[in-house]
Amino acid sequence: ISAWSKVPLGPPDAILGITEAYKADQFEEKINLGVGAYRDDNGKPYVLPTVKEAELRLISQLLDKEYAGITGVGAFTKLAARLAYSPSSPVIKEDRVAITQSISGTGALRIGGEFLARWYPYNKTIYLPTPTWANHGAVFRDSGLDVKSYRYYDKATISLDIDGMLQDIETAPENSIILLHACAHNPTGVDPTPEQWRRISDVVKKRNHFVFFDMAYQGFASGDFDRDAFALRYFVEQGHQLVLAQSFAKNMGLYGERVGSFSMVVDSAEEKKRVDSQLKIIVRPLYSNPPIHGARIAAEVLSDEVLYEQWLAEVKGMADRIIQMRHLLKQHLEELGSTRDWSHITSQIGMFCYTGLTPEQVDTLRTEYSVYMTRDGRISVAGITSKNVKRLAESIHSVTK
Ligand code: PMP
Repeated sequence: ISAWSKVPLGPPDAILGITEAYKADQFEEKINLGVGAYRDDNGKPYVLPTVKEAELRLISQLLDKEYAGITGVGAFTKLAARLAYSPSSPVIKEDRVAITQSISGTGALRIGGEFLARWYPYNKTIYLPTPTWANHGAVFRDSGLDVKSYRYYDKATISLDIDGMLQDIETAPENSIILLHACAHNPTGVDPTPEQWRRISDVVKKRNHFVFFDMAYQGFASGDFDRDAFALRYFVEQGHQLVLAQSFAKNMGLYGERVGSFSMVVDSAEEKKRVDSQLKIIVRPLYSNPPIHGARIAAEVLSDEVLYEQWLAEVKGMADRIIQMRHLLKQHLEELGSTRDWSHITSQIGMFCYTGLTPEQVDTLRTEYSVYMTRDGRISVAGITSKNVKRLAESIHSVTK
């Protein structure tokens, strides 16, 4: 008898399942709005020209393949921290950011969860927005934290439930951990305004909560790296002792290279040493040290002045294409005579749009129109192109009339 005869069949991954169904569909004009990766206007994966250039430079150097240190490629993490916090931030100038390279954003969240589970001296409960990225709950539970939620999105208004959010953060036990999406909230595309961020910061401070920022889309949301880092930098300015998960999957298109970092704002250089030593103790038995190739690419782009400027423009190009597709989709729906209010399509930000479509409407779109999206009505705007946007609008219109 097999050792695994009692292993139950687990549920398939909700998002990857959509891609499977899409692939099996024979219809030529099928549309996949499930993928969380950028596509160009021909619906093709996009490798950034600056990333290609950096990679060619690296290859031509024929560097050795020695292990990185436990916390990764130092040139990369140093620049990653500056990109997030800004070079002029006191925490950068005073060397008060402890940082380790991570297996992209997911790995950063996991290292952070492990660190907090081990060393956070208060309430080891992390509060996640409802809804949130589908993997957050599992990552933090597996890290050993208790997972609870706070209200975030209001289905009725298709917008931020700021009052519910503030109330839930206020009533959470003092010294809880609050996870915040730094920008381009996934899956809703709904972000707080700067004014709302100030109110969130005030309540967090009042309740002595601890903030965990997840920043998977810096630059990708608005096309402007400083603007997208507003919340993070504002919280630092307000004296919050926060931690941050950073991903270069989206803004460098380095998805499969798994490039990210986990960082912590600390009090002093001395504290940084202690914290750093414990980060190493967490990473070492997990995977020993991170892969080097993607981090070297990112470091090359971030360190070369010309490549860096060009990269900013490329990211803006991706963000702008997404924003343009939002406008086109809304415009087509209106031209078709839809009487619904679709203003949320353009007011939301980042790769995803929460359409407000019901699970039944999503099912009909799939079975009758070969349009694929998650059942919560989330679409990846990156899957829209100038060629398919009209048919998409017609399909959506026919299921929502
Ligand atoms: N956090 C959020 C909010 C995300 O949307 C994602 C990716 N979809 C991640 C983290 C992690 O992605 P990765 O591990 O590919 O960097």
